[in-house]
Amino acid sequence: MNGVLKLRWLQSFLKYGDVVWFVVPTFVFKKVGGIEFLLKCDFEISKLPLQLSTFHQQVLLQWKMMFKHNFSPHNVPIWNNRVILSGRKSMFMEEWWHKQIWSITRLLDDNGNVFNLEEFNCKYGIDCLKKNCEKVVRNIPEVLIQLIKNNLSNSSSPRLHKIKIDYVDIVDKKCNNKFLSQYLINTIYPGKTRNTLTLQNFDIAIISKIRTKYLKFPIPPKFKEVHFKMLNNIYPSNEFIKDRFKFDVENCGFCNTNKETTKHLFFECVEVQQLWRRLHNFLSSKSIDMDFFSFQNIQFGLFLNNDNVEFLVNNIIIVTKFYIHKCRFAKCSPSFCALKNEFLLFERCLSKIQNAKAEKLYELMKKFRLVSP
Ligand SMILES: [Zn+2]
Repeated sequence: MNGVLKLRWLQSFLKYGDVVWFVVPTFVFKKVGGIEFLLKCDFEISKLPLQLSTFHQQVLLQWKMMFKHNFSPHNVPIWNNRVILSGRKSMFMEEWWHKQIWSITRLLDDNGNVFNLEEFNCKYGIDCLKKNCEKVVRNIPEVLIQLIKNNLSNSSSPRLHKIKIDYVDIVDKKCNNKFLSQYLINTIYPGKTRNTLTLQNFDIAIISKIRTKYLKFPIPPKFKEVHFKMLNNIYPSNEFIKDRFKFDVENCGFCNTNKETTKHLFFECVEVQQLWRRLHNFLSSKSIDMDFFSFQNIQFGLFLNNDNVEFLVNNIIIVTKFYIHKCRFAKCSPSFCALKNEFLLFERCLSKIQNAKAEKLYELMKKFRLVSP
């Protein structure tokens, strides 16, 4: 399920934020205190002062759908708050945040009155400008301050909530695909439990392998997403969109003559066939012998006698599919030369990741000289 992949991406980002392919989202979310803090805030995506990619927006939307926010005024962060706005955007002040000033209670004295500037600067050891301080206080709805003031004697010190889904920590092992998938189904489709399979030609053990093995491949989540959509026949090719939404669509952007079905786009199109042929010849020249790919191989991956070669080839197929997907968006024809360059970049990324699967794939790419001459 698509939602599960988005949440798995979020888990990986929370766990391995320092890995090289999270450099961009780390940089982006740092502007609002980092992803971990953001998930604890009562944010609204359209009000965040960030330029987010569609993928990151979808991840946050998925999180908002899954996460149930227990409202408690003195634990609500001021920052990234959908009702505390400055010029229609939520606020974030790094200096305050570093000083642990994130709750409204931090702005109030023991009697529930807002500190004056001198008291505030003295208490937190900062040198905040009067206009900034006034701006923050002005943007907090009066009703929120009153709510906290009225309950000041009963409330303990403010605490940020934990990032949990149905009482399970999102980075806990228990929060696996099965758990997320079931929770998502229960949340979005209460009462509906059947999972539709699109892999009827395989037996159950193989289906399970096809559905799960790639999740552990050391490839970026966006690559896996393209693979996931093809696997489940939900890749948004033009003909798919036409069938679902009755839109008028254009022909394949590579050849301009055929309808753009997913099969055509990723396999049958002359431009793409040539790419797969060259890739197949290239692999043969590196002593990786196998029959030419079928569409089924491209869609689901393939099974070979040698586990290592199977692992290598299936990763390469997913990288190639992502490259085709990228060419489609860039409206440029796929070229084998450019694909080899993608392999080069991919191998460089792998070399920087300390993880058994990444190291294994890196060694295999080296062994079969997929990048070096
Ligand atoms: Zn075509």
